[in-house]
Amino acid sequence: MKLTKREVLEAMATVPLAASCVSTAGPGSADTIVVGAGVFGAWTAEMLRRTGRKVELVDAWGPAHARASSGGESRLTRAGYGTSRRYSEMAAESLEEWKRLSRDQDLALFHDAGVLVFFDQENEYATGSYETMRALNLRTERIEPGALRARWPQIDWSGVKFALLEPDFGALMARRSVATLVEQFIRNGGTYRKAAILPPKGGKKLEALETAAGETLQAGEFVFACGPWLAKLFPDVIGARLFVTRQEIFFFRPPAGDLRFGMPAMPGWIDFFADQVMYGFPDLENRGFKVANDVHGPIVDPDTSDRLVDPASLAQVRAYMGRRFPGLMDAPLSETRVCQYENSSSGDLLIDRHPQWSNTLLVGMGSGHGFKLGPGVGKAAARLLESPSAAPEPIFTLATKAETQDRAVH
Ligand SMILES: Cc1cc2nc3c(=O)[nH]c(=O)nc-3n(C[C@H](O)[C@H](O)[C@H](O)COP(=O)(O)OP(=O)(O)OC[C@H]3O[C@@H](n4cnc5c(N)ncnc54)[C@H](O)[C@@H]3O)c2cc1C
Repeated sequence: MKLTKREVLEAMATVPLAASCVSTAGPGSADTIVVGAGVFGAWTAEMLRRTGRKVELVDAWGPAHARASSGGESRLTRAGYGTSRRYSEMAAESLEEWKRLSRDQDLALFHDAGVLVFFDQENEYATGSYETMRALNLRTERIEPGALRARWPQIDWSGVKFALLEPDFGALMARRSVATLVEQFIRNGGTYRKAAILPPKGGKKLEALETAAGETLQAGEFVFACGPWLAKLFPDVIGARLFVTRQEIFFFRPPAGDLRFGMPAMPGWIDFFADQVMYGFPDLENRGFKVANDVHGPIVDPDTSDRLVDPASLAQVRAYMGRRFPGLMDAPLSETRVCQYENSSSGDLLIDRHPQWSNTLLVGMGSGHGFKLGPGVGKAAARLLESPSAAPEPIFTLATKAETQDRAVH
């Protein structure tokens, strides 16, 4: 039965069943319950649905809601990851899924703006990115300062030694992409429930979940993709291995009628200088020219952290803009957002079995770069559930996640 868009949206707004009842996923019981409808949970649910399973996706607030890490306007997608070939491959493989999802939409989910990465020195990250992308047949171009000045005169290239352009990558419309994916998942037979899951309790394996409303949800297998809330559900297992940091985002309005800061004149960009990393987007869909500092902010709680930007951060961003994008020096702010990264110690993702419950997966730690990888994460998670004897990939294991931060992945 094909659901109408309205029926799908109504399903996404479902309220919990009456307290104290055992519920099943729609007409039959769910094989698998995925908790968390951010980018990781939504793609994991979709990849599991494609294997023929009955999958129920559960979220306390809804797909890519405003306080979720996936709830922002836009996210960069790129394949340059230094020498980390696995992430480059995952980004490329994921991009194909994003493009497929975007293809049939009235409003694009993926904008092929390209991504330009600025470097102030030769380093292993730049060389590794270039060589890995070429080895994977992903288009990349090294551009020297003269050519940078000629192609993008709206940028002040002082201090930039060279840049790498990834012309086939660009920007994902984050919140809309996750909402669209969940809509398609439901349309294709997956089920969705709005419910808050309590920290799970199990013996040899996990048998069921309890919700805050008093329901019991049963399934054979479980996935927890709870983003910055993962440590709240698993204080003993995850606990201090998750670092949730406050991140601030600024949108600036370009001068009236000025085409220099939108597509196609402006790509997505990342600026590595000294020990700083700033990044941003062209004026996508007329929301404004987005700029953010990628350096980790203070540790916060995703439930209680305020969502007001610090005036000192705005001053810092404005000073940077004045240097790098002089045409936007006095541009008025059009919008701000405060979000959180959910970091692992190194920046590597978590896609692993629960140490005690072999029927339960823990998925998360996107660490400020995970959004683009959503389809690949879903595929890797589905593989672990589909093949009980399959070993998790070493970089994604819980065992490699430490309790002190030493960021290695950008
Ligand atoms: C400002 C910012 C910029 C970023 N930029 C980029 C970028 O340019 N490129 C890139 O690739 N990545 C980027 N990232 C990283 C990426 O967006 C995140 O890593 C990714 O969105 C995390 O997704 P998630 O599904 O793990 O978490 P979330 O999106 O937070 O989803 C977790 C979900 O779990 C639900 N949940 C939690 N607890 C419970 C419970 N008890 N019961 C039921 N539901 C529960 C929540 O409601 C939430 O919806 C950025 C992140 C931020 C914050």
